[in-house]
Amino acid sequence: MNPFASVSELRQQLDAKEFSARELTQFYLDRTNQFNPELNCLITIDEDGALQAAQEADRRIQRGEVGPLTGIPLVHKDVFCTKGLRTTCASKMLANFVAPYDATVVRRLRQAGLVLIGKANMDEFAMGSSNETSYFGPVRNPWDLTRSPGGSSGGSACAVAAGCVPLATGTDTGGSIRQPSACCGITGLKPTYGRVSRFGMIAFASSLDQAGPLAQSAEDAGLLLSTMEGQDPQDSTSAEIKATVLQDQDRTLKIGMANRMFSDLDSNLASSLEQAKREFEALGWSIVEVELAHLEAAIAAYYVISGAEASANLARFDGVRYGYRAQSPVDIMDLYRRSRSEGFGKEVKRRILTGTYALSVGYYDAYYKQAQKIRRLVQTDFLEALREVDLIFAPATPSVAFEIGSLNENPVQMYQQDTYTIPVSLAGLPSLTLPCGFVDGLPMGYQLIGRAFDEATVLWAGREYQKRTDWHHQPPPLDEQIENQSLTVG
Ligand code: GLN
Repeated sequence: MNPFASVSELRQQLDAKEFSARELTQFYLDRTNQFNPELNCLITIDEDGALQAAQEADRRIQRGEVGPLTGIPLVHKDVFCTKGLRTTCASKMLANFVAPYDATVVRRLRQAGLVLIGKANMDEFAMGSSNETSYFGPVRNPWDLTRSPGGSSGGSACAVAAGCVPLATGTDTGGSIRQPSACCGITGLKPTYGRVSRFGMIAFASSLDQAGPLAQSAEDAGLLLSTMEGQDPQDSTSAEIKATVLQDQDRTLKIGMANRMFSDLDSNLASSLEQAKREFEALGWSIVEVELAHLEAAIAAYYVISGAEASANLARFDGVRYGYRAQSPVDIMDLYRRSRSEGFGKEVKRRILTGTYALSVGYYDAYYKQAQKIRRLVQTDFLEALREVDLIFAPATPSVAFEIGSLNENPVQMYQQDTYTIPVSLAGLPSLTLPCGFVDGLPMGYQLIGRAFDEATVLWAGREYQKRTDWHHQPPPLDEQIENQSLTVG
């Protein structure tokens, strides 16, 4: 079996009975058990649950009741509630939390016959760009074990890149699907805000959070998205919208490029992006300049808005109903205070403190309201640009994957990892990251940003690009690195 096979290849092989879903699941479980001790990409591995789900998938295959993803293994980011299987959000606060229900995404994928192998590591409460804020320790990048896979969906990206699973779910508030996908050399999609239900997904910043697929290719990401998405009565912000159908379009695209996004890039990154641009031209697509005038203010606005929302969302973790509870409190205030200060990590506390400050009397107008105005300006820039063009081409990250530990002391530099992804989140638009080359053996990616709810065009364009390139087919040198590492350690 090939751990990097595409989902449609796996589908054909399952349907042709070349192997059973149980055998396929065992194969990915073995690979996960082999690499997880080094990579730390999964917090929980559910071997029994996976094999049971695989057997059920085999029964469905036997009966011919198959959907496109029946019997295909995946992992969920540990931000999605899974009934009976612990959901930690990579926090000490929820280290032993077992949800009594499934998130809508989890339920839909279970019903479609996907096989859940485990829960992926992430930054604590999805706050971070490196996976280092996880209570369960950092995830390692399969391309270079000394480097970060990006974050916050770093465990999901790492698991797919390492071939531990063909598919993973993630969430993206300011870049958390796109940045780790780029750092790990895989394909990730942040859907339009409202396309996928947020019910049962532990909230960080509710006006920005969106779940999406991480996969080997745009084609596979499209398959997972069409199974995850859809209006849900349990999430009032989920939209009633046509399903995503990835099919060929008979037209040439007009792609916009904001030159200011490319001006500060490192020259290696810039030349890989230049090569991607030439592929679009070879497809007969035109490239025109678009003006996105307010990009510079986006990061500041995002950290005010997301912090403000986080401070409200995380108020529920008080040591009373669920989650971590401090020992022997003297009174209720002591219980709240110590449960929260002992249960949350440093970055989460930083967000709660700054968010609370931004919302407090006297500062609301100066920070929160200003940030909302900037958000509107950024959104308007994108909407105007997308009236002229079909898609916007943009970098995904300012650099390739960085060394674990290198940005920890400098939160502002860490926040700048999302320079190119945050503006798109403020605008609520769909964006796909695709791998486009390597710098010193490390993958890099770019984004294709689309009109609201036009994931079909974004994915089709990504698939056309991937027909012409094979960056997404390169496997990381994992065995080699692990061998070298044990040689040096041994
Ligand atoms: N890195 C950004 C942050 O720390 C984005 C995180 C995310 O998208 N969940 O907020």
